[in-house]
Amino acid sequence: MAGATMTAVSDAPFGTLFADAMGVARTTDGAFTEYDIEATAPLSLHPGTHALHYGSSCFEGLKAHRGTDGQVRIFRADRHAERLAESARRLCLPVPDPTFTEELVAETVAANLAATPEAPCALYLRPVLMGIDENIGAAAHPTIEALLYVLASPVGDYFAGGDRALSLWVETDLPRTTPQFGRIKTGANYAMALGLTRQARREHDVDQVLFAPDGTVQETGAANVLLLADDRIVTPSLDDAFLHGVTRDSLLTIARDRGMAVEEREVTIDEVLDWCQHGEIALSGTAAVLAAVGTLVTTDGRSMVGDGLPGFVTGALRDALLAVQRGQADDPHAWTRLVG
Ligand SMILES: *Cc1c(COP(=O)(O)O)cnc(C)c1O
Repeated sequence: MAGATMTAVSDAPFGTLFADAMGVARTTDGAFTEYDIEATAPLSLHPGTHALHYGSSCFEGLKAHRGTDGQVRIFRADRHAERLAESARRLCLPVPDPTFTEELVAETVAANLAATPEAPCALYLRPVLMGIDENIGAAAHPTIEALLYVLASPVGDYFAGGDRALSLWVETDLPRTTPQFGRIKTGANYAMALGLTRQARREHDVDQVLFAPDGTVQETGAANVLLLADDRIVTPSLDDAFLHGVTRDSLLTIARDRGMAVEEREVTIDEVLDWCQHGEIALSGTAAVLAAVGTLVTTDGRSMVGDGLPGFVTGALRDALLAVQRGQADDPHAWTRLVG
């Protein structure tokens, strides 16, 4: 799809277009040593592949941005590579060295420069690690060999067609996942949240679910949650219940750099509902960067966040992060890496 126009990219649903090249690496005796750049094409997997039976797989999601200067920059690939290694460790998979993963990601971007669209579009990168031992009797044994590939997908602006604020159902009974899996970016977590999210969409007409079991806020199905005010951000402190987002970390760092107070601590749903009266609420993640929340729905009814529209602080922080990603602002923490 190298010649695809910006319009084609903007019109396609997120994650449905694929660039021509993907990076591929397979272990030998459990160790990653070399990789290839191959044509994006169906994989050949034995039906007895470990990951297909026992869930031994995890992934990452990061972006390369083409700036107004035409240059392509990958955003914080080192952090994503470290998180992939951490996911692999927790799933007893062969652990790819973060520098190896970072190199594979960079080479995948280099092979797809022609398919990397201009801002506000971007090239979304999806490293996937899976256990490939051919063994259906290994439910209680880790895979020895693994496959790591990096799929590239040109994506449009998440906010194309209007800067709409999201609505969330507040789930106070069930957690998003188990403490063993909270920090792992693995398919099982999304499968676990899916039925509940679909039910909330049907019954309460919401976009996403905010998980707050026993009143303690965790995150939504695929994004971290931030409470924002002019001079302050409040967000749950890092623990095993939720995914430690790179976007969350980046936004908190920018906020601190700007002199805002950042409070990482336990956040209760009562505090979140109070916050609606005076502050802003937003969700952070690679795909959307920072998405405003306009409505919270609980068993007591619907609460508007402020006037229900995206707030000023949310917009300012999102723009500040995008400016670094696109090479329009200084990059004091060396988050971006040039490719090509
Ligand atoms: C990917 C993901 C996030 C966001 O992480 P980023 O590194 O900011 O993209 C948050 N929560 C969950 C459950 C996720 O899967």
